Amino acid sequence: MNIEDCVGCALCQPVCPTFQETRLEGASARGKIAFLAAYSRGELSETDPHWGETMTLCTSCWACEEACPAGLSIKDLFLEWRENHPPTQWERHLRMLLRLATITPLGVRTLLPLFFLPLRGLKSRWKAPLPVTSIHPPKSFFFPGCFSRYAVPDAATSSYKRVLSLDSFKDVAVVPSGLCCGSALINNGLLKELPATATPFLEWLEKRNPLAVITADNTCGQTLRTLHHSLPSHLEKRWKRFAPRFQILQEIDPHFPPKEGFQSACHNEHRCDKPEATCCGFGGSFRWQHPSLSRRIGKRRLRHLGFHEGGDIRVEGPGCLAHLRRLVPPSQRARIRPWTD
Ligand code: SF4
Ligand code: SF4
Repeated sequence: MNIEDCVGCALCQPVCPTFQETRLEGASARGKIAFLAAYSRGELSETDPHWGETMTLCTSCWACEEACPAGLSIKDLFLEWRENHPPTQWERHLRMLLRLATITPLGVRTLLPLFFLPLRGLKSRWKAPLPVTSIHPPKSFFFPGCFSRYAVPDAATSSYKRVLSLDSFKDVAVVPSGLCCGSALINNGLLKELPATATPFLEWLEKRNPLAVITADNTCGQTLRTLHHSLPSHLEKRWKRFAPRFQILQEIDPHFPPKEGFQSACHNEHRCDKPEATCCGFGGSFRWQHPSLSRRIGKRRLRHLGFHEGGDIRVEGPGCLAHLRRLVPPSQRARIRPWTD
């Protein structure tokens, strides 16, 4: 499948949050693919500022790929472009910060919490509970993910409690802070840096040899399960051994998904099957690159979810939870809750 296979049907537009809010053709997958096609024919320069800006109008929700009847691998196309195009100044700064904050465990522990301060507000950071007291070393671990740990600590606590409530997981310790799944690197054109985040994680896995690592952060879970595809061969085989041991809480919890007022995460198999954009507009670095558009998409989503009619909203993704809470007055934030609450 390649970009010439786009049939121009526009079925990617109703599900695209950036298109729905801006009505700009270039914000949709169809528009971006037209840009890519023009570039491949030599009709556009990759340094064209309009072209660069247009390609960033994307929350990486990948709803377009699900909707595309032509079966285009839109995610692969866009990620390849992010990896290979000359970065804009904003992207250069972002990549420098991401490198500092994610590729060493020390950076993850010290700098990531600072990044997330505007989302967390003055709430204190999540303190992982003391290690389990079993006489045996724990065989299962809970991985909260950086967003839960540093931006929405209440989500980390309620997800951990939910894991402990499952019959098959009683003796569950927490993965130490400093380990990162690397999804921010993948989404921001830094695939080559992945070995730096994967290596300390791999060393920890090899030392503890867990039977299961459970996370409620879908993005982290999906990334960790498939990370070997993006690693160089000397790490690929080592990671592949552990890939099936990553479990996503939503797949094993009988109470998922909540029935009403539910904001699902984009990167899962439980997306609401509706012909409309369901992304909350967070999109990781998208929120920082396009703050006004990100907020507009989020507010639109809250309206669709019935927030203004008085219902509570349960949110699956911790980044989405932090983002949506910042869109409502402080007195209303408690109504936007982790789905595990
Ligand atoms: S990934 Fe999401 S935001 Fe990006 S073009 Fe596709 S539908 Fe639109
Ligand atoms: S849904 Fe697929 S084939 Fe149709 S316009 Fe969008 S990218 Fe092209």
